[in-house]
Amino acid sequence: MRIGFIGLGNMGAPMAANLARAGHELVAFDALAAALAPLAALGARAAGSVGTLAAEELGMIITMLPASPEVRAVYLGEDGVLASVRPGVILVDASTIDPHTAREVAAAAAARGNPMLDAPVSGGTGGAKAGTLTFMVGGEAAALELARPVLAAMGRNIVHCGGPGTGQVAKIANNLLLGISMIGVAEAMSLGTSLGIDPAVLASVINTSSGRCWSSDSYNPWPGVVPGAPASRDYAGGFAADLMLKDLGLACDAARRARQPVLLGALAQQIYQQFSARGFGRLDFSAVIKSYRSDRPDDA
Ligand code: NAD
Repeated sequence: MRIGFIGLGNMGAPMAANLARAGHELVAFDALAAALAPLAALGARAAGSVGTLAAEELGMIITMLPASPEVRAVYLGEDGVLASVRPGVILVDASTIDPHTAREVAAAAAARGNPMLDAPVSGGTGGAKAGTLTFMVGGEAAALELARPVLAAMGRNIVHCGGPGTGQVAKIANNLLLGISMIGVAEAMSLGTSLGIDPAVLASVINTSSGRCWSSDSYNPWPGVVPGAPASRDYAGGFAADLMLKDLGLACDAARRARQPVLLGALAQQIYQQFSARGFGRLDFSAVIKSYRSDRPDDA
């Protein structure tokens, strides 16, 4: 298929590369011209602007942008996708944004005759490179079936969550829980070790007991407990604390609109906010354990 791809950052570039490797013809655009160079080597053609890309004869346009304002600008702006896209082209936004914006943009697309899917991902940059992402998809089932073979070139699990915006709902609900559970594991590991238990022993007990969760058994924040986890490489790589902060902000904003209390989510957001303000926002989010060990920063 001939696919337009907009947003070739940490996630978009490897996702687009997998589409090119799967034999799709790519037309690509990024606000940073330098981001296009690696894809050109894989045969992708660079477009001069969002508008010129959207005007081409394409089967699908995929966007992978930082946040809601960029998604709004790229789709609804003066030189945006909807100003020049041909009717029938399927639009897929894989960025993580608020469900309200996702629904607003999807409604504007539908009014122009373009089915739109919100399809945020989990799996991080590793999953993007390996083509093993999970797509959480909101939108019409028929549009998803048309998009499925293309998404399958970038991901392993493709879950239809419901109507427009529900992919974003699933993503922010999951990350709300992940952000909270990581803080819980950090707190338990810090308490246990300061009371004298070996961190590896404590983790093994938790991981065969009722406290077990992904944050404790696969991504434990204590250095050395899980050899492949970011904690065991000075919290480099992984999922940046600032991205977790962004996702918790989306969850809290969506909760406010729905008048739904998120008590622990709001506290977790403030804990990551403080952590980011201390200059740690680029570290993996499991480094939030430093909030409990600021007196001994070299230990954790
Ligand atoms: P990024 O900042 O690395 O990439 C975004 C790209 O969009 C950049 O290359 C930027 O130049 C481009 N861009 C920004 N505004 C633009 C515009 N108006 N027109 C064209 N291009 C524009 O971000 P990322 O890490 O690739 O993340 C993208 C999305 O995926 C975010 O919503 C993020 O929350 C989500 N996400 C990221 C991860 C991760 O581990 N990085 C994991 C899951 C989901």
